[in-house]
Amino acid sequence: MPLPEEPLDCDCGRSVEPAAARRAETYGDLDPTRWQTLCCPTCGRRLKTVFVADE
Ligand SMILES: [Zn+2]
Repeated sequence: MPLPEEPLDCDCGRSVEPAAARRAETYGDLDPTRWQTLCCPTCGRRLKTVFVADE
C-alpha cells in the first residue's frame, strides 16, 4: 500500500510516521474507497491525503 515513506511533520511539532497516523475519510468529492486522509494522532490535524485504491 502506497503510504509515504517519509515522516510527516505536523504543525503541532510532532513528526508522524505514516503508519502511525490516524486514518480518516476524505472530504469533498474524493472517493473514500480510493483516498484516505492521514491525520496527526496528537492534534488531529490533516497531514496528507493518500491514494489507497490498490489496498
Ligand atoms: Zn499534530
